[in-house]
Order: sequence, then C-alpha cells, then structure tokens
Amino acid sequence: MFSKSHFTSILLLGFFFYSSGVICQRRARKSAKIEVSAPLKTTPKLIVGIVVDQMRYDYLTRFWNHYEDDGFKRLVNDGFNCKNNHFNYAPTSTGPGHASVYTGTTPATHGIIGNNWYDKVTDQEVYCASDDTFNSVGTTTDAGKMSPHRMIVTTVTDQLRLHTQMHGKTIAIALKDRGAVLPGGHTANAAYWFYGMGEGNWITSSFYMENLPGWVNDFNASNTAENYKKPWTTLKDINTYLESGLDNNKYEGLFTGQSAPTFPHDLPRLWDSNGKYDIIKATPYGNSLTADFAIAALDGEDLGSDPITDFMAVSFSSTDYVGHKYGVNSKEIQDTYVRLDRDLARLFKALDKKVGINEYTVFLTADHAAIHVPAYLKDQKIPAGYMDGGELVTKFQDFLKYKYGTTDLVKNTSNYQMFLDHDVIKNLDLHIGDVQSDLAQELLNYNDIDKVYTAQQMWQNEYTEGIPYILQNGYNQKRSGDILMVLKPGTISYSITGSTHGSPQIYDTHVPLLFYGKGIRKGSTTVRTEIPDIAPTISTLLGIAFPNGTTGRPISKVLE
Ligand SMILES: [Zn+2]
Repeated sequence: MFSKSHFTSILLLGFFFYSSGVICQRRARKSAKIEVSAPLKTTPKLIVGIVVDQMRYDYLTRFWNHYEDDGFKRLVNDGFNCKNNHFNYAPTSTGPGHASVYTGTTPATHGIIGNNWYDKVTDQEVYCASDDTFNSVGTTTDAGKMSPHRMIVTTVTDQLRLHTQMHGKTIAIALKDRGAVLPGGHTANAAYWFYGMGEGNWITSSFYMENLPGWVNDFNASNTAENYKKPWTTLKDINTYLESGLDNNKYEGLFTGQSAPTFPHDLPRLWDSNGKYDIIKATPYGNSLTADFAIAALDGEDLGSDPITDFMAVSFSSTDYVGHKYGVNSKEIQDTYVRLDRDLARLFKALDKKVGINEYTVFLTADHAAIHVPAYLKDQKIPAGYMDGGELVTKFQDFLKYKYGTTDLVKNTSNYQMFLDHDVIKNLDLHIGDVQSDLAQELLNYNDIDKVYTAQQMWQNEYTEGIPYILQNGYNQKRSGDILMVLKPGTISYSITGSTHGSPQIYDTHVPLLFYGKGIRKGSTTVRTEIPDIAPTISTLLGIAFPNGTTGRPISKVLE
C-alpha cells in the first residue's frame, strides 16, 4: 500500500541525493620490508593523493591573491595544472567522487552510484561505505562499521599494494568515513576517520585492525581536537576578502543558536547545541585537524622512508560542510580556502622534512564542485530556482492512478532516478520499456525537469558527449534506476540557503586537478581531462598495473 504521505516523502526526500550528513592486521613495520624489485628511476617514495570536498575550479583563481607561495601556488607554479578537468558522470557526490578518483572509472563500473542509494535486491536504502559485518575500533558507537565492499573494482592504492607484494603501505585519512574508506581500496593498511559528538576521536573499522595503533591513541589523547574549540574568526582582515559576498546575507544558513550568519562564529557558545565536536567539521578547523593528523601519520605510519612507494590518501571534508551551510560566494568559504592553503603548506613542509624535497608526488583534486546559491543567482537575474516537489508529487501521482489504476509502479525515487517495481508492471501485463518511456514523457511536462532518459535508452545507445554521456557513465546496469531525470540548469532540490551539488551540470563537474613533485612536468593544459584519468596517470608514473575497472586514460603531458 502506497499512502500519499509515504509517497510524498519518498519522492521529496529522494530528490535530495540522500546526503547522510553520513581483515586482518597489515601493520608490518617498514623495517621488515624486503627489496622486491628495482624501482623505476622516477618512482617517488610516497604518493600523496589530496581530495578537497566540494572544491570548484574557480576557487583556485578567485582566491589566488590571498594564497601564499607554499600552498596551492606551490602546486600550480611548480607542478602541472589541468584547467579543464571534469567529472564525467552524475551523481556528483562524495562517495562516487572518491571512488572514481581512485578507481579510474565511473559509477557505471565501480558500483558506487551515490552516497546512499536504493538497493533493488534487498529493497532497502544502503550507504556506500557501511558494513555491518565489521566492528568499530576507537568508538563505542557504530561509526566505525565500515568497509569498501560495495566498490566492486580495485583502486590505484590496491594496485600499488599488489605490485609491491604488499610492502608499499596505504594509509587513508578524512573526517568523513567514505572519504577515507573508498580511497584506501580493499587492501589499505588503514583508513582513519573522525567521530565527533562527545568523543572527538580518530577511529577506524575492524576491517583494517582490531585496535588503534599507539600513535593514533596518542593523537586522540593529545587534546588536538579540543584545542579547536575556539571562536572562528577570519584568518586575514575580513575587509580584504573582496572576492566574496557580504558577511551578513540571506543566502547563508545558521548554526543552531545563532541569529546571524556572521563572524566570529563562537564555537564554545555553540558547542553543545551543534553536536559538540561535530561543529569543528563545519569550520576550517576541521581541515586543520585533518592536516595535523596526516602530519602525525607520516611518522606514526613511517611513510615514504624507503624506495618502495607508499600512498597517503588525504581528503579535506570541511570545505563541503562550509559550502553546504554558507554557499560558494560566502566570506566563510573564502576564509576556509585561505586557511586550507596554510594547512596544505604545513603538510608540504612536513613532507619535505620527512620524505625529502622531490622524493614525493602530490595530486590534488575534488570529489565534486558546487552551484552558486540559486536564490542569489535569481536575485542577479540569472535563471535559477528550487524544485517544486509538490507539483511533481500530486500531478505525477494523479497520472499514475489515471493511466495504470495504481501508484505501486514506483518503488523509490532517489539521486534523480526513479526505480520501478518490475513485478507490479509484469502483473499489469505491461512491458517495462513502454512504462519507462511513458513515465519519461509525463515527467518531461513538469516545469523543473529539463531532460529525462530511460534505462532502456542507456542500454541501447552509446553516448559520447553532453548530458547523456555523463548520465550513462553514472548508470550502473545492476544498481541504477529505470528513469533518469535532470533538473533545469540552476535548479536544485535543496534548502534556500547554502550550496549543493549532485547534478551533471558543469558547475558541479568542473574541479581542479593539480600534479606536483617527482616525475611531474611543469605546465598546464586547457584540453579536457576527466576524473577517471587520474588513477591511470599515477599508475603510469609508478609503472604499475591500472585498477581493474579503469576506463580513464593517462594524461601524458603531466609526466616527465
Ligand atoms: Zn556535499
């Protein structure tokens, strides 16, 4: 039985790509390493993969004059800048983003089709990194019950482990579990993420180990996180932040207990009403804490200390929380990037010291970009807006009843996809392809929906450019839905404050891609590159096999 309110909530909630707001001991010390093979001349001792959550390409250029020489500018000026780099699939969200960077392919192949998605087999919503068969390590909550099991191919980090007979180490770090678990691949020595609330600790899963190593326990006991319980003020004089909007404007969200979205954000006062340590995530201090932890991991995990290449995957998640709350044009996002620049400089300095200048290689990219707040765009006379979910629900429900005598045909709508009940359709003596195309025709009548494609079209055609190409790369035959919808450019399903992402539109796909360090040429290109090109580029640099689902191509200009 499909009650109206149930249907409404499924349909409405689903249009937000569900944002979840959410083996063995492999810890052999490096001293136990043996020589496995003569490394290539260009082989770095350490690869550092950096993913900045929700970073638009133009954050490099817009805030350029506020960056110093040893952060972003070090990568751009002394490395290689791919200026026209894009996600080539939708949905553009964090789980698929991290999986695609590290697997060299898209959701069509790696299977991570969203942060959360409706699982057709079990008739349940699943989370991209959750795994109830493992236990939390470092917390009494369930926040550690994670593994990469839903990602069905290997990562570049897996291939490095295989190539080095498991002697090269992989350590993955992020505030968000999925930002660490997916980059680490199936063979990571460790993935660590942050559990906030009343605990404020870095944790992991029994998928990796039974107990946290000493250095992580020491870090957790060190009060490093606690020290960020202080007011968030701008790093530089706010009057010099001319590249963003007014501090007080109607396009920004608030912390619980705040009356205006303005500096200073008083974390000690807001602490208890905003999830205690969780509030750190939504400020640039979350990125600083991530850098602190990554720097501690260099020694703690003994990374980059011998010729067998190790891999450290670091994801900076706070940029996403800040973007969602304040939007891409806020003083808060500007300060977050000015501060991230300083945190990157600190990390590079630690790498110089620990691994050695020109002994390591860095890439920096994002897991998706983000849209300007549509309410702001609208006020600037640019076509933009918010999806009218009500119209869609009532009209569409009436259509289903009129045409089929029941609304039971639709099982779930999520990530801009509609999942149909194939059994109900069979029982009605209808053909699935016909129903898909009839529903698609109907949906195209709705004001906010700009394009509609059916699964049948995805099966029968091979798209090579434009929106259908992007949809097809995100369409997984076993996991995706029956109908794929695209909202009008500038239209989102989200609150009227803050920015979001998830669409196949260019504002969500265009992200930075920088390479720097050993084996990397200086230069830049405006030729289009795509996210799945990163993993085969790094594989080529290292002389290792490509991840087993790779569809991207090495960017040859980047390599010496
Ligand atoms: Zn996000």
